[in-house]
Amino acid sequence: MKNCIFCKILTGEIPSEKIYEDQKTYVFLDASPIAIGHMLVIPKKHYETMDEMDPKTANAVIKTTQKIGRTILKFNKGYNVNQNNKPTAGQVVPHVHYHLIPRNNNDDLKFSWKNIKFDKKYFQETKTKIQKFLK
Ligand code: 5GP
Ligand code: ZN
Repeated sequence: MKNCIFCKILTGEIPSEKIYEDQKTYVFLDASPIAIGHMLVIPKKHYETMDEMDPKTANAVIKTTQKIGRTILKFNKGYNVNQNNKPTAGQVVPHVHYHLIPRNNNDDLKFSWKNIKFDKKYFQETKTKIQKFLK
């Protein structure tokens, strides 16, 4: 895809620190890491969001994410997988990517996650609304 930074990384037009690649996926170090070893897993085929991926590509991306996750656990205590879809959700690069973020005790990384209290009506109405759109 023209003008896509990650497609340019895949062609080598933009350099990257490659960690791993196979037929369908590519893994490289994030250029502005929030933790040591912060990596991005991407499909070689251009899709904007994860819901758009064809099943074979989606399978390959998950398989690679698991492989990298297992690798991270060999020398870290845990990891987060973060995946943003659309600018509203914080997606800056419009080529599907999974952030793999190694975690360790007291690493001082904080993801803001504020739980909201709702009554029973919310659960009923929300369930009905979502299921109406489900195909
Ligand atoms: P997003 O906010 O879209 O989920 O995350 C995009 C990520 O891509 C950011 O963490 C950013 O640091 C990373 N990134 C953007 N441009 C480049 C680049 O040219 N090279 C690498 N290695 N990472 C990039
Ligand atoms: Zn792309």
